[in-house]
Amino acid sequence: MPSSFLHPFTPPRKEEFISIVRGEGAVVFDADGNQYIDGMGSLWYGNVGYGRREIADVIAEHAGRLGAYHTFDPFTNPQSEELADKIVELSPFNRARVFFGSSGSEAVDTAMKLARIAHREAGRADRDIIVSRERGYHGTNYGGTSIQGIAPNREGFGPLVPGIINVVADDDEAMKQIFAEHGDRIAAVITEPIQGAGGVWPPPEGYLSHLRDLCDAYGAFLVFDEVITGFGRTGQWFGSQFYGVTPDMITFAKAVTSGYVPLSGVIVGPAVLDGLEANEGFVLRTGYTYSGHPVACATALKCIEIQEREGLLDRATAIGARLEPGLQAMLDEGLLVDVRGEGAVWGVSIPDDKNVVKVRDALLGKGVILRPIPPNHLTFCPPLVITDEQIDTILSSLREVLTGG
Ligand code: PLP
Repeated sequence: MPSSFLHPFTPPRKEEFISIVRGEGAVVFDADGNQYIDGMGSLWYGNVGYGRREIADVIAEHAGRLGAYHTFDPFTNPQSEELADKIVELSPFNRARVFFGSSGSEAVDTAMKLARIAHREAGRADRDIIVSRERGYHGTNYGGTSIQGIAPNREGFGPLVPGIINVVADDDEAMKQIFAEHGDRIAAVITEPIQGAGGVWPPPEGYLSHLRDLCDAYGAFLVFDEVITGFGRTGQWFGSQFYGVTPDMITFAKAVTSGYVPLSGVIVGPAVLDGLEANEGFVLRTGYTYSGHPVACATALKCIEIQEREGLLDRATAIGARLEPGLQAMLDEGLLVDVRGEGAVWGVSIPDDKNVVKVRDALLGKGVILRPIPPNHLTFCPPLVITDEQIDTILSSLREVLTGG
């Protein structure tokens, strides 16, 4: 019998799970006392590592002071005001404001809504098409499900949000064609700077700046979904800065709090703000009970402070510099068929005769966690506090598994 807990992205009949009960740095422990080097920062988020007392203290302090109070008109709180200021300072924007939610899916759906309504408020109500790329993952609310570039994640959930065009992932010409056909109706293009959950696919050279040019030429907003790339993963605060391309909105979640408590948001840049702020009397009728949750915002401020204090952005670059040659060597030997990534987020493809879930399971047996992405990809997104020795153990364990050891 399965337990009462209905798991996400899991066969509902599955009964056996690994119960994770504790963590320290880049290592997690299960209920049977086994320990694992976490090559995935849980689900792409554990940047500052697990089990940090100073974060627990911040959570306790702010929960003890108030708990939470909502931020719908007329209320606010100092934690969310301070965090919004800090995020704008770290962002690529000269002028921006921050909308808060709790999950990446909420951030994505909000960005879609903001794009459409900002155009409407600016007198462009006919701009309602949202363009996304194949292989993109944008969460599982109905907006994110509708713009999903991973087809199986869209199937079976009934009618989706209309006005969406999903375009071939890496093809400049295909994107140009969509603009040529629908340019005056496009509200926004949304893309991850590096496609993550689809298997880690950095953009082709120049792709993001061409996208920026196309959006500018046709008057569409560009949205970067930085739920994975945001808050240090590429060695910069945002993938936008890593690639030198500034979008009109950035969604974030995950590493903003390293997952200690849920928090997400949308950084809204000047072009979108111009629409939202255009009309006296306009009320932005979207938001969440926990938008600007003070405990979550205080936790994020602490996590940003830790990343700054411990130089974790530079560490992301160093992690990439250590992982890449190890993976490249396996590619050269034919153990892998593709290696790709930037900073501290990497993906590999294994040969067709190997089963990626079995490889994942064999790695678990060796005390290493990587994420399998069928049909044949494995991903790496370790906590930025991972040590060089732990990176080497991940590499040697993968080599052993791929050579049948
Ligand atoms: N957007 C991207 C790029 C993601 O990688 C994810 C989650 O992996 C999401 C959105 C959805 O985030 P959440 O699962 O917190 O709703």
